[in-house]
Amino acid sequence: MNFPIYMDYHATTPLDQRVLDGMMPYMTSKFGNAASRNHSFGWEAEEAVETARKQIASLIGATAKEIVFTSGATESNNLALKGVAEMYAERGNHIITASTEHKATLDTCKRLEKHGCRITILPVMADGLIDLDMLREAITEKTILISIMYANNEIGVVQPIAEIGRIAKEKGVLFHTDAVQATGKIPVDVTKDNIDMLSLSGHKIYGPKGVGALYVRRRNPRVQLTAQMDGGGHERGMRSGTLNVPGIVGLGKACEICRDEMPTESKRLAALRDKLKSALLANLDETYVNGSIEHRLPNNLNISFAYVEGESLLMGINDVAVSSGSACTSATLEPSYVLKALGAGDDLAHSSIRFGLGRFTTEEEIDYVIGKVTEVVKKLRELSPLYDMFKEGIDLSKVQWTAH
Ligand SMILES: *Cc1c(COP(=O)(O)O)cnc(C)c1O
Repeated sequence: MNFPIYMDYHATTPLDQRVLDGMMPYMTSKFGNAASRNHSFGWEAEEAVETARKQIASLIGATAKEIVFTSGATESNNLALKGVAEMYAERGNHIITASTEHKATLDTCKRLEKHGCRITILPVMADGLIDLDMLREAITEKTILISIMYANNEIGVVQPIAEIGRIAKEKGVLFHTDAVQATGKIPVDVTKDNIDMLSLSGHKIYGPKGVGALYVRRRNPRVQLTAQMDGGGHERGMRSGTLNVPGIVGLGKACEICRDEMPTESKRLAALRDKLKSALLANLDETYVNGSIEHRLPNNLNISFAYVEGESLLMGINDVAVSSGSACTSATLEPSYVLKALGAGDDLAHSSIRFGLGRFTTEEEIDYVIGKVTEVVKKLRELSPLYDMFKEGIDLSKVQWTAH
């Protein structure tokens, strides 16, 4: 085994060697600008970009012409939301999203709100799913866009995308989904699910960092976006800027590999994840899985270990790279807004750990993590007066705490 063990695949993934091999020529001898029309260097680069477009389209049930390359999913989300808000301003100004979205969506909505948009942020239920009746009720005459993520990056919960797509289509509202965590991990089909725009990112699927794409539907309906970057009019006028050819080649190759290997990979990871979950829940009491288990990515496990500080647990298992449910912002530790949206108290949110499994996770690593987490949680609880009181049967919610 190699230490530290990487179990944070939702944050980023290592580059697959096969992806790097595909990219290398485009960083060395095949360095042309894909927009150069006058010589073979340009043609060669353009051909590689078109191959990548097909590989990406094929993973999500789209056509090559519907793929717009960006610098990553943050940009894709910005382009989708701002591009629609600007283009369809005469039709309406209302956008619907959800409380557990990535900041790239929520903060873009905040910005649009400052510019006159009305934003509805749907709450989620205790299992992390949105309520479809609430979605239906939120739609008004002025609604131009619904943006709901495919799968959540903290808790791996997969939203009812096909149903959301159906509702959006019925009401004539555009539907964008941030599918960064879902593409390449579970089957995604923009046609079947009536998705009008979809964001994806290279570095979450064993491709390079700094490259992503936005799928933009061309037919039924034809989605139009106001460009957010002015310049040479690349990408059908939607995103100017010289194409990142090696990055795009890598993104394409990464999508092709995911498409070929998804059936076996997802089954393998789900089995490892289930082993991790069952063992931790069996070894440790007062341990809870956050978010729906049924509607969940195969590679995600998010667990709260009551009476244990996530940060202390992280330090105790410092040879395992995972994330905690606390976001370190300047001086304070904020509990995760995603876990809070599920109704978790600050305590449970602070005691949560996200385990993200991936292509290079082995069973040996899972076994090590089970042993290590069990040992450290037990040790930390031995030091916890609250856990002692809980063991003695004292109802902590009824204790009157006084400050001295
Ligand atoms: C990582 C991530 C993003 C941001 O993607 P970048 O390519 O890093 O900008 C957006 N949404 C979700 C759900 C993510 O996990």
